[in-house]
Parts: sequence; C-alpha cells; structure tokens
Amino acid sequence: MKARGQATVATHAGRPSGGEAEPLAVPLQLSTAYAFPELESLLEASKGKKTPWTFYRRYGHPTGRLLEEAVAALEGTEEALACGSGMSAVATILLALAKKGDRVVASRDLYGGTHAFLRDVLPRTGALVSFTPLEGLADEVRRGANLALVETVSNPLIRVADLAAIGKACERAGALMVVDNTFATPVLCRPARWGASVVFHSATKFLNGHGDAMGGVVCGPGDLIARMRSLGIVLGTAMAPLDAWLTLRGLRTLPLRVERSCRTAEVLVKFLSRHPKVTRVHYPKAARVLSPWRGAMLSFELEGGLRAADRVVRASKLIRLVPSLGDVTTTYSHPARSSHAALSPEERQALGVTDGLLRISTGLEDAEDLQEDLSQALSKA
Ligand code: PLP
Repeated sequence: MKARGQATVATHAGRPSGGEAEPLAVPLQLSTAYAFPELESLLEASKGKKTPWTFYRRYGHPTGRLLEEAVAALEGTEEALACGSGMSAVATILLALAKKGDRVVASRDLYGGTHAFLRDVLPRTGALVSFTPLEGLADEVRRGANLALVETVSNPLIRVADLAAIGKACERAGALMVVDNTFATPVLCRPARWGASVVFHSATKFLNGHGDAMGGVVCGPGDLIARMRSLGIVLGTAMAPLDAWLTLRGLRTLPLRVERSCRTAEVLVKFLSRHPKVTRVHYPKAARVLSPWRGAMLSFELEGGLRAADRVVRASKLIRLVPSLGDVTTTYSHPARSSHAALSPEERQALGVTDGLLRISTGLEDAEDLQEDLSQALSKA
C-alpha cells in the first residue's frame, strides 16, 4: 500500500483499538496505578510481563502510549517514548546512550538547555563532550565519535543541518545520530530517513501547538527506546497524562498548522527582506532536508541593535515576546536576552547572536495582519 500522507497519519494514528464502541475522542486516563486480582499477576506485571502502560503511571500510561504511537508513525520510527519535557527527553537520551569514554560531538548551535546539559551534566558520566560549528559536524564525526547531536533547524539563526552528510559520517564511524527535530516537525523533515538513530522533540512547541502542555517525545528503534524507557522509569520522567492528551489533540492538526505557518513565514520574510531598518533576514533557502515548505521559524537583525529590538517588541500589537515557540499565535524571541543570555557578549558574537536579532515563530493569524503589525512596529525602531 502507498505510504499515507502526514495529515492522514496525524489524524488517525494513536487511537485505542479493540473495543466494540471506539470513542471518537481519545480517552484521558489519569489513574496512577492498576489493580491486580491476585499476587501472581502482580508479580508477572512487575517483571515486565504486562505492558508498562497499565501498571504504575511512572512506567507509562495508556494516554501517553497513544501519543507515542502517533509520533512514531509521523517520524517513521519503530517506537517512541513520551517524556515530561523536551529537556527530560534530552537527559533520558544522553544518559541512556552515552557512557564513560564515549566521544559525544554536538553542533555548537543548540538550544541553551541542551547545550548546558552536554556541557555541565553529561561529562559527569565520563563521556567526552565537544562542540563544533554546524558545518564542521560531519568532519568531526569522521575523526571518531560514538554519538552526534544536532538540530534539524538551528536556533536562532535558522540554519539547516546537512543531515545526509552527518548521517553518512555517523554510519561510517558507527556513531549514533541524535536529531532534535523540534523546529522542523515531522511534517517538513523525518530525520530517520537521513540516518538518524534517535529523533526527539520538545512537544511543548509545534506538536502540541497550543501552548498548554509540556512534554518531550523520543523516537527510534525498539531496542534503543527500550533502554531509554527503563532509564525513564527510574528517573521518573514520564509525561503527565493530561499533557499527553493535550499534545495528542494538538497533533491532529499539526500538518495544517505547519503549512499555514510556513506560508505566513514566507510572506513575512519577503516583507522583512525589503525593509530599510532590517539588515539581515535568516530563513532557509530551499534545502532537500526540508520539504515541501521551509519552516515557520525566521529571524532578522535590526540596524538599531538592542534599543531598536526593544522598541519593536513594545510597539507590536499582535506579535508578543514569549519564551517559547510553535504556538497558534505568532511570537518573538530575543535570543541575546533569553536563550543566549548566559553567554558572554564575545561568545554571542562568535555565534552570530547580535543584540538586534529578533526571532519569529509564525502562528495562524492572517499574514496581512501580521505584516501590518510588523510594519507599524518597525516604524518605531
Ligand atoms: N529543543 C529545542 C529546539 C527547544 O527550543 C527547547 C525549548 O525551548 C527544548 C529542546 C527543550 O524543551 P522543553 O522546554 O520542552 O524542555
């Protein structure tokens, strides 16, 4: 049978099956534990002979399981694991897969929390961590690595990783390739296709898409996910059922939302590229990793630096400054004052994060309204 499109997968995957009267809406199950009729079946369950989704909630739960099935189907992987946040996904992946003496190489352009975990926490396991510019990652892997970590689309300069080259280098080096696909979403990119062993998301962003649930989802082959699931049980990193339910509901419209947001991003990029107060716009060129659109994330630099950025934020009526992204409303981020605030000005400069840089995550508003809002806000810059 022909592979189904992502909109069909997003709406149909992750539904309970088997019952005579199947509910159209997915049930939310909050129970923290399940009852056992006698001792023997409890013993069997505690030895893992029953699914971990109907035992004790820290092991997993039915609502989370449906989300796992849906995201695995969207990413095209065998299995998935739902975690309490994108960061708990990062911690679970790295602590489960990297060990003493392993060489872990990561792109320098990473979400600040991931960077901090790699720099401050992972080395305590004895793993050797190094950071490299995005364009040098494949070469660095060729010099020898056990695990490579990269974001499909980087923050805040919206650079697209050459996943094909990194995937090939990982395959030759025998390294696990771990990809954060949060910015791209499985609508625009399925990193497993390019050789990723593990793909993860901050589900708090586009997967949920409505700014009301926190979570992370890790996708990969059954054996790796089983290792992470076992670790997650002792770390206590399972996603809460309500968050899983809200994420699954948001996921149903992911392809629709992503398409709309990407089209709007293109309108804003065109507008900003011609604006006299904007010195630079960061948005991907057509890249084979991203299709059929180029994303809902863009950033731009203002001639007037920090003061101009502050004026634009203050003057904007629709676009708000929010420490997140991937929502139904369009939002700004100011990296120098948020995700990259802990870096020194010199470090920020080396990364290209200027004081006049604003990042936009486009939402679902009418593109003309957003353009008008930006236009009037930029007139105050
Ligand atoms: N990865 C990326 C690309 C992110 O932007 C974020 C958060 O902003 C994370 C991971 C961490 O996710 P969470 O905030 O859900 O822990």
